[in-house]
Amino acid sequence: MTTSRRALLSGFLAMPLVPLAGTIAFGQEAPVLPLTRACTDGDEATLAREAGPFFKPNSPLKQDLYPDAPRAARITVAGYVLDGRCRPIPQSLVDIWHADESGEYDRQDFRLRGHQFADEQGRWWFNTVVPALYPGRARHFHFRVQRPGRDVLTTQLFFPDEPGNARDRIFDETLLMTINPAGDGQFARFDFVV
Ligand code: FE
Repeated sequence: MTTSRRALLSGFLAMPLVPLAGTIAFGQEAPVLPLTRACTDGDEATLAREAGPFFKPNSPLKQDLYPDAPRAARITVAGYVLDGRCRPIPQSLVDIWHADESGEYDRQDFRLRGHQFADEQGRWWFNTVVPALYPGRARHFHFRVQRPGRDVLTTQLFFPDEPGNARDRIFDETLLMTINPAGDGQFARFDFVV
């Protein structure tokens, strides 16, 4: 039996941050959840990407989005908000919106839209579903990230090994999530550097 998303999330939350010469590394459990390249390659800020036409302000405070699409494949997406020296930034706003299992965005209401504030260690996570493809785009999540008192980063995160990535004009490989299979879906990891 493969590890569940809940177990992988618990593992993520249990991992200590270990300061290492201006960067961070994780303890023993780390191998299945490596740091995304954002914080191993140096201090490059996460690339901004257009919001697109489907952003709606004032999303609900909500981490569990999967009840919005109960038949869709589940994915937990988690990570840190870090500064340019890989230091976690607590209380950063993380806002997600994405297409449903039919490739549609909810424009009337707030289905598959939600925000949260990173915890005291700069961590955030959403339990949601895998968005379907829609015409002209590779599979993606939309995010807005704001550290307290600073400008908003608007960006998009992509799925590895998607044939559509190479054809997507918004795609950039630095915006790829690290994805591990779980017994009940997938566990995705991305650290925002803002
Ligand atoms: Fe989109």
